[in-house]
Amino acid sequence: MLKNIDSLLITIILLSFLSCDRYSAGDYQLVIVNASVYNVNTLQVEKNKSIFIQNGLIKKISKTTSTDITLKNAIDAHQKLLTPSFIDVHNHLNFIFGDTIEITNPKDFQTSRRILTEQYIPYGVTVVRSAGGRELHIPMEQSWMKHHPDYIDYYPSGGALVSLDTKFYNHTYVSDSTDVVSKIKEYHKLGFEHIKVYSLIKETELKTAIRTARELDMSIFGHIENSMISIEKACELGLTNFEHAKTLFLEVIRKYEIASKDLSNLPPDDDENWRYREYEAFNFIGANNPSLLSLIELFKKNSASITPTLHLYAHPIGLANTDNQIAMHEEDQLKWSGVKLNRAKKGFKELTALVYKLYENGIMLNSGSDTYEPGKTILSEMLLLNELGIPMNEVLKIASLNSAKTLNKSRSYGSIEVGKKAHLILFDKSPLTNPLNLLSKKTVIKDGIVWVKH
Ligand SMILES: [Zn+2]
Repeated sequence: MLKNIDSLLITIILLSFLSCDRYSAGDYQLVIVNASVYNVNTLQVEKNKSIFIQNGLIKKISKTTSTDITLKNAIDAHQKLLTPSFIDVHNHLNFIFGDTIEITNPKDFQTSRRILTEQYIPYGVTVVRSAGGRELHIPMEQSWMKHHPDYIDYYPSGGALVSLDTKFYNHTYVSDSTDVVSKIKEYHKLGFEHIKVYSLIKETELKTAIRTARELDMSIFGHIENSMISIEKACELGLTNFEHAKTLFLEVIRKYEIASKDLSNLPPDDDENWRYREYEAFNFIGANNPSLLSLIELFKKNSASITPTLHLYAHPIGLANTDNQIAMHEEDQLKWSGVKLNRAKKGFKELTALVYKLYENGIMLNSGSDTYEPGKTILSEMLLLNELGIPMNEVLKIASLNSAKTLNKSRSYGSIEVGKKAHLILFDKSPLTNPLNLLSKKTVIKDGIVWVKH
């Protein structure tokens, strides 16, 4: 018996020695040599680096030597910029597959996974979080959770939890706190790591959701705009991940409504006018409003994060970059002109001024699309963040490390560091030299494999 164990041990030692030998002989999955590596922690570019990748992970980073160049599977970056890949923290599947299509046949899951992936990876986005979706798509989402280098890494959230039976397809109704607990436990059992709540949730239910998510080590995000619950209250209850910078303005408007302040200058809040009303709300409140500033202070105190989603407001009024050719979806064709369009553009400036204030105050910003053509949108969002005054080296961090941190996934994604997944972008032209180079040709590496369309 003892002898058997001995020989087993010798075999294991031999095997590990052999694999070690194989490894040191340079048989890496991929080696990128002569790279200008963007370090998101220091915000600096480190030239002449070699990245050694094994089993989809970054194993070693060192100065490029002449031997690295001769290694098998080495690609020469020729000093081009290598950055971590980007993350979309705010996707809804209806933007990809439509509002009515129901994908429930397992035979279709792979095709839909490919369709979703092709919306992202060519643009450098390799990780996506759902910000609420239909429960009938849960089996499909579960099948996508088995990671595969050919597809994006997808993190579902289930339906956005609401205390009001809205019947909206991306919402999941929870009648009381017991319901909240069982729903979150159900998602957890399915392997979900994220929960989403919508503003139509009651205080007790939100409190329970935050507590339950925390107990199960799940991240919780909220689209809160003072409908059933205020941002202030949600902060007090411990919510830290907020969605859409515009919600801060809407929170103040709601506060004015409660105080019976005269809002007759604003367009009516109905189906026809609600979009224009939002831009006018930005104008009405203004980025220097004291209530907004105190919300920023609150975010600072609570180390909260927020997803700006600026493209959502820039694109329909012609303020998003057109070089990456994002189609104007029917519902975004607002057909505003003259004074109305100019008022909307002015309103957008107030929104961007608020985002700059959030940035200036050290609030963690992350990147989310929340619309059609999400991969292209992430790049547009990054350009908008840059245009409002955030330097491109910080913008790159927002779309990578900050977003990974918000997803509680920075152990795996967000920076080029030993032990993290090899999710990388090799830019033909550096966005640090010219922001528009974000749209330039790029080689995207996912799990250590150069991604190609299948
Ligand atoms: Zn959304």
